Amino acid sequence: MSSMILVVDDSATIRHQVRACLQAAGHTVLEAENGAIGLQKAKDYPIDMAIVDVNMPVMNGLEMLANLRGVDGKKSLPVFVLTTESSKELVAQGKKHGATAWIVKPFKADVLAKGVAHVLARAA
Ligand SMILES: [Mg+2]
Repeated sequence: MSSMILVVDDSATIRHQVRACLQAAGHTVLEAENGAIGLQKAKDYPIDMAIVDVNMPVMNGLEMLANLRGVDGKKSLPVFVLTTESSKELVAQGKKHGATAWIVKPFKADVLAKGVAHVLARAA
């Protein structure tokens, strides 16, 4: 099953890696380079899930996630946080805003692909 997935990261390298991983699984990928653009794309496109970095300019990933939960139809959108951050405080903040999973970089492509497949199967 093909899904539309939004990848939000300020690193073009990470976006490219995640895109390759998702496209190999047959998904359509949208990209955004910060949380503000990501939030707008999440509103504009019928995405099935989002994969979001934490540290980004303009709007960070946790702010984007918090804002997203206030958008009609996006309250339970699956969102993976993909970040170098692993502090308890930030993970707790992610949980509070309904992050589906917290994956610490560097990520393994097969682990990410499995997690995405699992979440999309559950959401279908
Ligand atoms: Mg970053």
